[in-house]
Amino acid sequence: MRKAKIVATLGPSSSEVSQIKDLIDAGVNVARVNMSHGTYELSHQLILNIRKASKLANKEVAILMDLQGPKIRVDKLTVPLELKSDSEWVIGPTASKDKYPEYQGRYIPTVYDKLVHDCRDNVRVLFDDGLIVARTLKRDRDVYLIKVEVGGILKSNKGINLPDVEVTAPSFTEKDREDLMFGLREGIDYIALSFIRRKEDILQVKYLLHKLKKNIPIVAKIEMPMAVKNIEEIVTVSDVIMVARGDMGVELGNHLVPAVQKKIIALCNTKGVPVITATQMLESMINNSTPTRAEASDVANAVWDGTDAVMLSGETASGKFPTETVIMMDKIVREAEKTPRERPLLRNMDLSTVNKSVMVAASLIAEKTNAKAILAVTQSGHSCLNITRFRPLAEVLGVTTDIWAVRKMALYWGVTPFLLEGFDEHDKEMEDKVIDLVHARYKLKNGDKLVITRGEGRFFAKGTANTVRVEIIKDVPKVIGGADTLESAEFSRGQINLDTHACVSCQACVGTCPHEIWGATKDEEHRIFINKVTVESCALDMACVDNCPTGAIEIIPRG
Ligand code: PGA
Ligand code: MN
Repeated sequence: MRKAKIVATLGPSSSEVSQIKDLIDAGVNVARVNMSHGTYELSHQLILNIRKASKLANKEVAILMDLQGPKIRVDKLTVPLELKSDSEWVIGPTASKDKYPEYQGRYIPTVYDKLVHDCRDNVRVLFDDGLIVARTLKRDRDVYLIKVEVGGILKSNKGINLPDVEVTAPSFTEKDREDLMFGLREGIDYIALSFIRRKEDILQVKYLLHKLKKNIPIVAKIEMPMAVKNIEEIVTVSDVIMVARGDMGVELGNHLVPAVQKKIIALCNTKGVPVITATQMLESMINNSTPTRAEASDVANAVWDGTDAVMLSGETASGKFPTETVIMMDKIVREAEKTPRERPLLRNMDLSTVNKSVMVAASLIAEKTNAKAILAVTQSGHSCLNITRFRPLAEVLGVTTDIWAVRKMALYWGVTPFLLEGFDEHDKEMEDKVIDLVHARYKLKNGDKLVITRGEGRFFAKGTANTVRVEIIKDVPKVIGGADTLESAEFSRGQINLDTHACVSCQACVGTCPHEIWGATKDEEHRIFINKVTVESCALDMACVDNCPTGAIEIIPRG
């Protein structure tokens, strides 16, 4: 199984049900709907299509709605402007365009009214992701004169970045509020906030959601220098962090992005906050069917940095090879995950709450017993989040009856959501039935172990998981040698019993005993037997009993 998750932005190249289904089949876990583009009608249809495609693919995906935030943009232009190096232009609010006839023909209108208020002399004004660089000269009433340093063709709606000034626009705009309300009506699973600068920017939206009684996790996009500076406090109030390298690269300079990415991911790993690495991961696949080596390395390195998820933007939204890109990303991640990194289990040990302590225990037990899976019974998905930060080797099954929790868990590293439908919550045999389901779906073998975490009492106890136990899979074996499943041998100091019904022929006993008391038949069954000749040398040290994973061996000392 792939552990790190894939987030894909949907758009014109991926808006039909069949296209989205292809992406889900290829490995997408989270679908990102970008509110910087499109109308409500289009977004509504897109969300409907995601849910339909997810049904067809028989796999739940989370929907992440990304709010535009105070993105400063060039307004509509009648024709693209050719900004030549060293030429002088004027930038100002669209509404003021006709107030200054002297600037006609060199006026760049912006949708952000307070740009001139926020700017100072001699600061950078970057257009189109930093491709065009200009610098402010001086202010004239409510417009600013600028001089182009690196020229280019400027088109309508291109982004403007002002890395040297503190933009005063609120991070949660009126449009964001309307978009959020729309998203809530549509039943989205995650909300992403753009251009946040400090923890209050997130808390403000948290309060709003709280008032509306909506428990939607918030993704804080780190793309402003201020947010990078305030990352420690932002992490404490965010549900998920996104390293939004697009705008971050423009604002900070690309040379700083790799180090900032590493630092943010490490911090998130320590705090147990999921982190998404975003933008230009396989950028060249917008036009080509294969990525560059550098891009493949970028994806793998994000995995090795410890990211919980990797994200695609233009590649899947408007590229020529959306499905191929997801297949490629899936392959790169899987390969990267074969090269083990340092296990964060002990470093990240957090015993601050009952649930966290139980999850630490479950991770350790799973590790020590080489468990096949950790079955985390959870109503909210919270337990899974607490366990996934330890990066367990075993797959984590987030067992829940709540479809919202299933979708939320789609983003969690190493977690496979497991939806239980049509179960009676009061069923006393619930746990056995769930184990049977898991057993069948994962084709578990005799001796395989499952670590189970859950609350006490009812299967889906309200509150927190506070118990851990290990389930050892014991199937009815093909009975060899008649109905009696007990094989035993007596010796002067006692008696050894082997329950051949429980024995899984793992040969742990054979390897443990230096006296060669245990043997295995040479045929395909490798049936375990007690050597009646050597049994007399048994030292009663119980090593074979301790090493038997299924409890099939019993030694009864005499007297
Ligand atoms: P965006 O955010 O795609 O909404 O701009 C991601 C980024 O800036 O990297
Ligand atoms: Mn951005």
